[in-house]
Amino acid sequence: MTIDVETMKSRLLDERVRVAAALDLLTRERHDAEGSESSDNHVADPSVVAVEREIDSTLGDSAESMLAAIDAALARIPAGTFGQCGTCRKPIADARLEALPYTDLCIDCKRLAERR
Ligand SMILES: [Zn+2]
Repeated sequence: MTIDVETMKSRLLDERVRVAAALDLLTRERHDAEGSESSDNHVADPSVVAVEREIDSTLGDSAESMLAAIDAALARIPAGTFGQCGTCRKPIADARLEALPYTDLCIDCKRLAERR
């Protein structure tokens, strides 16, 4: 594997912070929408808003599952299985990991999963 696991780890941690912040914001907005009087008038961080839009459009309500995927990927680093396909056990292509550091499926298994 030519990919640097430490780099991947820091990218995953960064992504985790972004997703967790967006999730937190989404949760608070849901509370606000429910009409509860909010004492905490937060000013949305523009970068958080951007992530929120990203999550909204690409993942819908699955920010939680994205967070779970990131945690699972972080757990695979000490386990030594990071970068390995969770289905066929073959190494995941570096370019794919670069794009989606939290993925646990190689492109072939992903395609098969989508076809199902
Ligand atoms: Zn696979």
